[in-house]
Amino acid sequence: MKLNVKNIRYLGPDDWRVLTATEMGSRNHEVVPTPLISQIAALRSGNGVHKCISNLAKIGLIAKVRNAKYDGYRLTYGGLDYLALHTHTKASTVFSVGNQIGVGKESDIFVCASETGRQQVLKIHRLGRISFRTVKANRDYLRNRSSASWMYMSRLAALKEFEFMKALRREGFPVPEPLGQNRHTVIMGLINAFPLRQISAVGDPASLYAELLSLIVRFAQYGLIHGDFNEFNILVEEKPEGDDQVTLVPTVIDFPQMVSISHANAEYYFDRDVTCIKRFFDRKFGFTSDEPGPFLKESTKKLVKRLDVEVEASGFSKKMAKELANYMKEHGVDGDTDEIERDDEEEEEDDDEQVEDDVADETPEDDQQSTAEPPSEPDVTPSAIASQM
Ligand code: ADP
Ligand code: MG
Repeated sequence: MKLNVKNIRYLGPDDWRVLTATEMGSRNHEVVPTPLISQIAALRSGNGVHKCISNLAKIGLIAKVRNAKYDGYRLTYGGLDYLALHTHTKASTVFSVGNQIGVGKESDIFVCASETGRQQVLKIHRLGRISFRTVKANRDYLRNRSSASWMYMSRLAALKEFEFMKALRREGFPVPEPLGQNRHTVIMGLINAFPLRQISAVGDPASLYAELLSLIVRFAQYGLIHGDFNEFNILVEEKPEGDDQVTLVPTVIDFPQMVSISHANAEYYFDRDVTCIKRFFDRKFGFTSDEPGPFLKESTKKLVKRLDVEVEASGFSKKMAKELANYMKEHGVDGDTDEIERDDEEEEEDDDEQVEDDVADETPEDDQQSTAEPPSEPDVTPSAIASQM
């Protein structure tokens, strides 16, 4: 999804008020009636609101919806993006936005800069985007969709990511520096590195392998399982170390799927993280280890801290965690693991990230869905996430 920031500087205070009013109205209205927008915005000049509405609609920040009962507007993803960026700008977290460096199924990643020119990453969560693998379910979902849910769920994903990144960073885990969060967006430090997936050869796979597995164990000792620990979510920096030697320094990203070691399926998620690394090192570097494990039970014998409990007590409550987890499960959001499984099935190289917004052209591939489902959970059809954008 495009993020076109060029119009942001043309918006005046009244435009922002009307955009904010539409956002507020959409908390309890699928389509926000124009009089309600006007009432919430409460502009000093009574007629001004219509001009603002037309400005905002022209640049796609709100969209007119004709309804059986009444006409009104809904906030678009673009509108939500602008509101979040506006807040980051006012808080001096972001000064400018640059190139897009990543497109996931559930997020867009951009480079951005602070006022001092420091390079950062803007991650926009988009938990409403259609995953083309679950199109059939999408059709049903589109019929029942609530416009507030994508906004709310994307915000929960961003909040969860930010809270976990903060806690992990505090404990010295190799994660990006968390710099800010607003609505469905997170600002973090830019890691100058490529995902492990893109690294074609490593001098000493054994030591990187050991380091990654020990990270999984360390997460568990802090009460956490990454839940999407794989070659897409580990960035590897090559740091020169004299005598033509380079050290590979991993940084872990992407936290919306983190689970607690107390989760009913904790063992399943732990093992899946371990298996992802083992399988990748085997296939890519021809490296296999004879050592079994690591295992969750052993890893959690000596707990250092319960970050899962700490985060719950801070910004991201148990209730929020549950809501987000349910939504992700119901809508077939399964991180990058899904990509890896599709790779396995098709034996294709470099088909990293494909997102299709077009429902009509795709056929569902029902037989490919459920290998990653936790075994003891009910067999739900991953209905999909959907967006109008
Ligand atoms: P998704 O949830 O869509 O998988 P990720 O957080 O994994 O999103 O980011 C997607 C891609 O964007 C990553 O694989 C990486 O290439 C890039 N990326 C994300 N965060 C950073 C960062 N802090 N520094 C550098 N690159 C990043
Ligand atoms: Mg990822």
